[in-house]
Amino acid sequence: MTYTIDVHLSPDEVRQRMRADAIAGLQAGKKSIPPVWFYDERGSQLFEQITRLPEYYPTRAERHLLEMYAPTIAELSKADTLVELGAGACDKTRVLLSALQQFGTLAKYVPFDVSDEFLRDAASTLCNEYDALAVHLVIGDFSEHLAEIPTGGRRMVAFLGGTIGNLGPARRARFLFDLNCTMSSD
Ligand code: SAH
Repeated sequence: MTYTIDVHLSPDEVRQRMRADAIAGLQAGKKSIPPVWFYDERGSQLFEQITRLPEYYPTRAERHLLEMYAPTIAELSKADTLVELGAGACDKTRVLLSALQQFGTLAKYVPFDVSDEFLRDAASTLCNEYDALAVHLVIGDFSEHLAEIPTGGRRMVAFLGGTIGNLGPARRARFLFDLNCTMSSD
């Protein structure tokens, strides 16, 4: 099975935005670059290597928690669609996908990420592992394109890793408010 894809941020737009943010961030008194730009093809590969270092405990800890609770999450959510924000390599996701599959509700996976090439590669591998799964990629910025998440089905949103920590308090509050607006009441 192959995937479908919606692109809301083209590679050209990504380059333009990254350049503008880099120029603004490096000209500021306190130099910075927004973390959203760390994850081009190479940056995403480096992040994956970091997650495998013995010192980097968050990935192991999160996987362990998911392994413990995924069956309960599947049963309580009865989700048929898993939406994942900042999906990256879609690796720990497999624990949730497999639990939903075992529970018998899983039909669709919607990984959402700004990193186009890397997500396509990750999705191709995943499609080979989950035969009957409809995979719908969304390329965009979750600070801007949440309303573009496909609707329909009983959706559960996963936001794994520490990515929410990339947003400062004000932007984080805005993000959670926007996310809540995209979800139905149940
Ligand atoms: N969820 C994975 C990857 C975490 S790394 C894990 O837990 O291992 C963070 C991921 O979020 C990267 O793939 C990066 O491209 C994506 N990301 C960061 N900021 C984003 C944004 N504003 N919009 C969409 N994706 C973003």
